[in-house]
Amino acid sequence: MKLIIIGGGIAGLSAAYYASKNIPDAHITVIESSDRWGGKIITNRVAFNDDLFIIEGGPDTFLAAKPWGVTLCKELGLGERLHGTNPYQKNTYVLHRNRLRPLPDGLAMMIPTNIPAILKSRLVSWFGKARMGLDFLLPPHTLNGDESLGTFVSRRLGREAYENLIEPLMSGIYAGDGDALSLASTFPYLRDLELKYGSLARGALEMRKKMPAAPGSRSAFLTPTTGLAEIVESLVGYLESHGTVLRLNASVQTLTRSNDKTWHVTLENGETLTADSVILATPAFAAAKIVSALDPQLAADLQAVPYASTATVSLAYRQSDLPRPLDGYGYVIPRREGRKALACTWTSTKFPHRAPDGYALIRVFVGRAGQDIPWNESDLLALAREELQLTLGITAEPVMSRAFMWDKAMPQYNLGHPELLRRIDAALENHPGLALAGNGYRGIGIPDCIHSGELAAERVLRFTRSNVETFQPANQISGVKHEN
Ligand SMILES: Cc1cc2nc3c(=O)[nH]c(=O)nc-3n(C[C@H](O)[C@H](O)[C@H](O)COP(=O)(O)OP(=O)(O)OC[C@H]3O[C@@H](n4cnc5c(N)ncnc54)[C@H](O)[C@@H]3O)c2cc1C
Repeated sequence: MKLIIIGGGIAGLSAAYYASKNIPDAHITVIESSDRWGGKIITNRVAFNDDLFIIEGGPDTFLAAKPWGVTLCKELGLGERLHGTNPYQKNTYVLHRNRLRPLPDGLAMMIPTNIPAILKSRLVSWFGKARMGLDFLLPPHTLNGDESLGTFVSRRLGREAYENLIEPLMSGIYAGDGDALSLASTFPYLRDLELKYGSLARGALEMRKKMPAAPGSRSAFLTPTTGLAEIVESLVGYLESHGTVLRLNASVQTLTRSNDKTWHVTLENGETLTADSVILATPAFAAAKIVSALDPQLAADLQAVPYASTATVSLAYRQSDLPRPLDGYGYVIPRREGRKALACTWTSTKFPHRAPDGYALIRVFVGRAGQDIPWNESDLLALAREELQLTLGITAEPVMSRAFMWDKAMPQYNLGHPELLRRIDAALENHPGLALAGNGYRGIGIPDCIHSGELAAERVLRFTRSNVETFQPANQISGVKHEN
């Protein structure tokens, strides 16, 4: 069985790993257009004074509650290397009218549940707090179908709580616009809580009681000792030692299928490879281009998934140069504050091992859907330094900095996304042996992407077993379930 996987990010590498483990005698090739593996996962380990700064250019941690990240790490022998976030300084702040205010305690599934903490918080006015209380009284909406995240949370908790508290946490994950994001595709469980418990706060509390602790750790987020690149390096090591062909600097242009059911994968240099099955693990817009000759309607639907561009700037300072202690994980910035930055992580507090003693590492996250950001390193650095000066009063020169620009990196699961997925699922039924994986469809986080790769490999395995045109495809695109 010949399998070609297009795209060497975490989804494509995970697909290759699970295919290699589960499909006997598979001849697997992974094709990646860039000159390195990992896609959005990139870790710079910068030597400094006999120690290291560990700088994440893309993701910096993954959610422990979604099991696929932890499971894969354990299988790769990284279980003992997973670190939780610093349990001693857990504050998170929200920028509110140019001042940092602590996020109230007792957020469960990002929903405020601790009434005394809300009453004390200065992030929401007394009127806004009273409006939040209506969540306990308002009956569930009877609407059938999807609504935006912004509409839903405003309807339950009020617009003020949405804008000042919830929007920067929830929309921030997608660098998105909460008034455009689809509730069903981003946080479907919130609507379930409303329907089941009649109140978001009551439901979130009940869910928290039922949630199992993350295996081996009580931290909600995990990361390997020297950065997320460890996962990529381990996957590549595993694949190399199990005979997978790994090709960098090879960009796939087109995918077609001949009458004898063979897939033809054509590269930029004109070379054509053949396969029995193909997993497309690129961003949706890249997949669209690749399948445009095979299925123009599928291509149009893939192309319709919008992506936002973002950037991260990491800056290192001497602790002695900081005018205030970095006593928490950092702060988020609501859209209504009108800043170009989206959030700021106090990396060396959140993960103390990522900076040498005596130094602080800070990461500024720039850009959100609908917003232009500078697209060169020096302007980005200037923007990040301006943010740090305005909010934290930092004027010192950083001892080191790194900027990472991510063009069209964050898929936006906007209203209409579920319908788009239904059409893509239906189109895939016409293409046995073809599967999709990656962040464009049913989950943007690393565990979701790993799971999408695993399910794409399962789909290919089912096809291989049946190996007839009457193959019954998974009932969902690559079988990925709604998990957010
Ligand atoms: C700044 C940032 C911060 C984030 N923070 C977090 C976080 O803290 N936690 C978390 O869980 N998630 C986070 N995410 C999201 C997560 O990192 C991504 O959703 C995930 O890594 C995407 O993986 P992927 O394999 O689907 O796609 P990608 O990583 O985009 O991989 C796709 C690959 O396909 C290749 N490709 C494209 N076209 C072709 C072609 N024609 N031929 C061959 N190859 C091609 C690309 O070069 C790329 O390597 C963050 C993302 C960003 C950008």
